[in-house]
Amino acid sequence: MTILPSSEEQLLEFLYACPVGLIECDEAGEISMINPHAMQHLMPLAAANDFGNLFKTLEQYAPEMRHLASRFRPRTGTILEGHRIMVELGSGRQKDEPKVLSCTLVKLGHNRLMATLADISGQVAQEQRLRQADAWFATLLDQINDYALVTVSLDGRIESANESFTHQTGYDYVGVVGRPLSAVLGNETPSGGFSIDEQLAIAARDGWHLQEGWQQRATGGRYWCQRLVVVGIDGPAAEHAKYSVVLRDVPRRGAVADDLRRMLTCDHLTGAANRVHFSRMLARAQSEWQEFKHPLSLIALDLDHFKKVNDTHGHPVGDLLLSSVAEACKALLPPRGTFARLGGEEFGVLLPRHNREQALDLAEAMRGIIADLEIPVPGGMLRVTASFGCATLDEVNGSADALLALADQRLYAAKGDGRNRVHRPMASLP
Ligand code: GH3
Ligand code: MG
Ligand code: MG
Repeated sequence: MTILPSSEEQLLEFLYACPVGLIECDEAGEISMINPHAMQHLMPLAAANDFGNLFKTLEQYAPEMRHLASRFRPRTGTILEGHRIMVELGSGRQKDEPKVLSCTLVKLGHNRLMATLADISGQVAQEQRLRQADAWFATLLDQINDYALVTVSLDGRIESANESFTHQTGYDYVGVVGRPLSAVLGNETPSGGFSIDEQLAIAARDGWHLQEGWQQRATGGRYWCQRLVVVGIDGPAAEHAKYSVVLRDVPRRGAVADDLRRMLTCDHLTGAANRVHFSRMLARAQSEWQEFKHPLSLIALDLDHFKKVNDTHGHPVGDLLLSSVAEACKALLPPRGTFARLGGEEFGVLLPRHNREQALDLAEAMRGIIADLEIPVPGGMLRVTASFGCATLDEVNGSADALLALADQRLYAAKGDGRNRVHRPMASLP
């Protein structure tokens, strides 16, 4: 092929029109070339000062990318292929779908990487729907067992229920008529799933919704319940619309849904919640604070001198340490709490219904458990410490951003005071 004088112009035209995001960068992620499509994906994610570095821009969504790139030894080749990066969870009710980017990263030569970015949100949502439908039909076919059928009016009240409702849940199927379904079955949110009222709202929007989770029985104990909500029109006009809710007692087979949920809500390395999920839980807890005045506290923690661990023992040991810290802290987490990785070696603990004293106590317990960790390395045991800042929503008049900022400010005060401590502000000082 001969290179014609116009080829540079043609190349630019090609890059401009290319429907896939294309980026060229060095091994540290510094971008040397980016086409408009890639720009569209990255711009909304970049803080004002970090646009220009691919890894930095994606740090909070895919912190593993930087290390996968730096650990890649061959001279050329594919580092990542179709790596899914979830950049927005979608809030379920208002926004339909999580936004997921697919990233392929190729090493072109010494210190030269090429990345492609494509939006695959539609495909991921479709996969999820297919898996849900698949799980549903599979149970229909392999276990024709009893199902409870409940019709529910648009305001959430039970209009009728069949006898199986009593067998399954233990509640009298006649006595429940007229009561809100969420009041009978409980409106608790199974971990990561939707409460009954939320599920009804989603079905009203989408036509149907299916999920699985534990359901308490009136008689004590619980069972794994598949809950399908469908909106049907019973009569000639839309005002006759109502919900049909089908409950099935099924063996627990949530593995596929669990995997998907994990992918969307967890950090790849440590299994802690990711930043997007954390923000979602924070928004939810904040509205509980507004509505019911339940206290809400936040702990921010950052490992001390962690860079030195990487420099001395290498990244794999650093990674192991990060996972061990996350595991140890999660073991102390109260039932409603969320433990999330907010950045490289910085974590956040969201504590709904915890006041300041309770948050300080938990932070102290986490400080202790981290300081006691021992990671075997050649020549001995590696130990690490962390510094902590706590804040409660009451202190910042309900602003989530201010809550994060205050916890962070106190965390850095703990660093300044010598690290390995929980910052305890004087009553009148921040
Ligand atoms: P300080 O006590 O002030 O917090 O010091 P530090 O060394 O912990 O803080 P600094 O922010 O300078 O360094 C954080 C280091 O964390 C730098 C980065 O290489 C490392 N890091 C970030 N993400 C990961 C990861 O996923 N794996 C590993 N192994 N290291 C990571
Ligand atoms: Mg640190
Ligand atoms: Mg840090």
